[in-house]
Parts: sequence; C-alpha cells; structure tokens
Amino acid sequence: MAASFLDMQSSDAAHHLHPFSDNGKLAEQGTRIISQAKGVYITDAEGRRLLDGMAGLWCVNIGYGREELIDAATAQLRELPYYNSFFQCTTPPAIELAELIGEIAPAHMNHVFFTGSGSEANDTVIRMVRHYWATLGHENKNIIISRHNAYHGSTVAGASLSGMKPMHAQGGLPIPNIVHIDQPYWFAEGRDEDPQEFGLRIARELDSKIRELGVDRVAAFIAEPVQGAGGVIVPPESYWPEIQRICDVHGILLISDEVICGFGRMGQWFGADYYGTTPDLMPVAKGLSSGYLPIGGVVVSDRVADVLKSKGGEFHHGFTYSGHPVCAAVAVANLRILREEKIIEYVRDEIGPYLQSEWRKLGDHPLVGEARGVGMMAALELVASKDPLRSFEDAAAVGDIARDLAIENGLVMRSVGSKLIISPPLVITKTEVDELITKASATLDAVATSQL
Ligand SMILES: *Cc1c(COP(=O)(O)O)cnc(C)c1O
Repeated sequence: MAASFLDMQSSDAAHHLHPFSDNGKLAEQGTRIISQAKGVYITDAEGRRLLDGMAGLWCVNIGYGREELIDAATAQLRELPYYNSFFQCTTPPAIELAELIGEIAPAHMNHVFFTGSGSEANDTVIRMVRHYWATLGHENKNIIISRHNAYHGSTVAGASLSGMKPMHAQGGLPIPNIVHIDQPYWFAEGRDEDPQEFGLRIARELDSKIRELGVDRVAAFIAEPVQGAGGVIVPPESYWPEIQRICDVHGILLISDEVICGFGRMGQWFGADYYGTTPDLMPVAKGLSSGYLPIGGVVVSDRVADVLKSKGGEFHHGFTYSGHPVCAAVAVANLRILREEKIIEYVRDEIGPYLQSEWRKLGDHPLVGEARGVGMMAALELVASKDPLRSFEDAAAVGDIARDLAIENGLVMRSVGSKLIISPPLVITKTEVDELITKASATLDAVATSQL
C-alpha cells in the first residue's frame, strides 16, 4: 500500500482511536505518522527527520535499527513463533531470558513472571502481593500504598496504582484497598523547605499511613525510583533510604516499578541499584526489549518466590503471551547488547554525566525554573517568572506549545503540564546530545517569543 500522507492521515482520523488523546481534536488536527527510524532519529511520512528525545516512549534504549534484534526475531519466528508457558510447558527463549534477568537483577532476585506489558506486570504485582500474604495466613493484609502522580500503567489495576486524578475520574478508580500518599516533588511541593528535610518528611508519610491503616492491613508500598510520566521527578537523596527503612521496620513488601528506570536508564541495571534499595518485586517492561516487541514481567525476590513455591499452591494468574518466545528472544538479544557493549557503563560514566551537565545549562534560560535529571532522563520546569518564581496559569497550554515548537525544531520532547521532559536512547553520542541541547535551547527561545 503506497498511500499518500494525506490519505493515511484521513484514514487514521476515520478509524483509529488513539491512547491518551482527545480523539475528536486529534482527528481534526491530523496525526503525525512516523514511518522509519535509525539510531536516535525517527522520520515521519512527510520525510521530516526528528531527533527522538523520548526513545519512543522511554523504551528504545539501544536505539532503532539494530540488526541483532531483527535477526533474533526472524530466527525465532521460523523456529517456533508461539507457544505458551501454561500447562507444564515453556520455550527455550523464555528459559534463557529468565536466567539472564536473574543474572543482572540484584543478587536476592532470581525469578521472573512474564507478562505482555508494564501494566500487566503491575496487575500481576497486586495479585502476587495479596496471594503472598494470604499464603502466610494474612488474608486482610491487602492494602497497597502508592503515591499521588505516580504512573504504574493503564489497565484497571495499573491505573488504580497510578496516582493520576484524570485517570481515576474515568471508570470509578481506584479499585478498593489502594491508597496514595504524597510524592517527593520538591520543586512543586517543597520549595520553601530544605530538599533533604523535605525528602525525609515525605518518606515518613509512609510510616504514618501504615500506622493509621494498621500494619496488619498493609501489604506493600509501590513506587518508581524516579517518577517518569509524572514529569521526571527525582527524589531528594534522603528519600529512598528512609522508605527502605520504613518498609523494613514494618516488614511490608517494597515494589520498585522499574518499567522506565530498569535496563540502564539511570546508569545502573535498575533504579534499585542506583538508590541501593532491596525491593521484593520489580515490575519491568519498556527497555527489556528496547521496545522492539511488547514484553514485560515481574522480577521476584527469593523472599517472595520461596513462599510462592513452597506453599503458595497454584497461582491462578497468567497471560496467553506470558514468556512469548519471539518477544523473549528479542529481549535476550537486547540484554546481550546492553551487557556486551557496556551501555550501562557508558550511561554511568560518560553520556549520562555529559547529558546532565549540558542540560543543567538550560536552567539559565529566563523561562526555566529548574533543569533537573539523572542518568538519561531529564526535565525542565517552565515558569512565567523566575524572580519571584511564578508558574504559568495554563500549565498544559504552555507545555503543549513548547512541545510543538520542539518538533518544528526537529526534536521530540514530551510535555507534562508546564514541564518538558526527555529520555533519549542510551546509545546517543555526545555530538547528538549537543544537537539535542541546541534544539531544546532554540525551542525555549521560540517559546519566549510566542504568544503565551
Ligand atoms: C509505562 C509504564 C508502565 C506501564 O507499562 P505499559 O507497557 O504501557 O503497560 C508502568 N509503570 C511505569 C513506571 C511506566 O512508565
């Protein structure tokens, strides 16, 4: 089908309902059709080349067009395109991937339950956590504490764990026994406090909430090491050690949602490695296959796996595509590349520090209230005035204007309210980072002179 760009756009408007979109408005505006990609660049159907500052959707960690993943997929499709992991069966790629994840995960985590996505991983988390405590005789220990403005996916369970008000408002969420505490978002919610004091105070809300609900009711706490979709919110250094201490004191499970932070984005294999936490469960997806095929999973600690295996009985849960052999084969090829090409080390020692130091310089721009980030993720807080600090009245409008101007400048960034965020492929070069910064800077200038 060699349809013209405009034909494709009108066909899309006529038939395709897009996720997280106002589909009426979108159909009028027309979608951007991305048709090709290589390295850190994507090309749209009009032939325009864009630097992909978001690595797709936080996932194309090794960049586009890697032949090893294409070969792994085609070889596996020929050998065995599908078989399931139910009914006492499995497939060689699923076995290999589970072993490989056990090798790279923290030492106390040696099992994985496969899913098709990050949302399914978090659905699995809820069921596994509750089954774990029920198996130990604590049927009522079923409340999971999460955080406002967290993102844990978009299925009924994932959206319930998420702390996004507009998501909860559609469909009557959250489901029962999920509660939310505050997020460690210093710039928006703690600026009049010392950041480390603020981090401790917010972490201690977990302790208060556990005491309020009763430790016999609380099963687990879930959080992203760094909030991604919420706007690349990097917690103060004091936050995670205190969270870990509180989970340990009360003996509740700690769930580190590694769907974005996992597989190198923070210059360690996992965000938990970066912050030195010891999670009981780690939902993963996105970077597991660098987005080439859909696959997710829950990495499980020995503490939980031992209980499930020794006395859990049948776990009445699973997906047709749990451990899908082609997705697993691609994930194996992806993890090998991350390991053999020392991409995690490259992020930690070279490109991460370079991106961060260049990104911080954008903080001098009159529109930028804060330029922050860690590893290969970063955010700009756009403000109406720096001194005195004043936010834009219509935050979402400013963010969207800035995002659209970035695209005109040849750069994909994402807007979250009045924040601009990036999460580029981990393999980006210094020259490409320079290009990203130049384009982001030109975008800020364009925003400053636009009709806000
Ligand atoms: C994207 C994301 C999810 C959901 O993953 P899907 O594959 O979109 O279902 C869950 N948790 C975090 C932290 C995410 O960023």
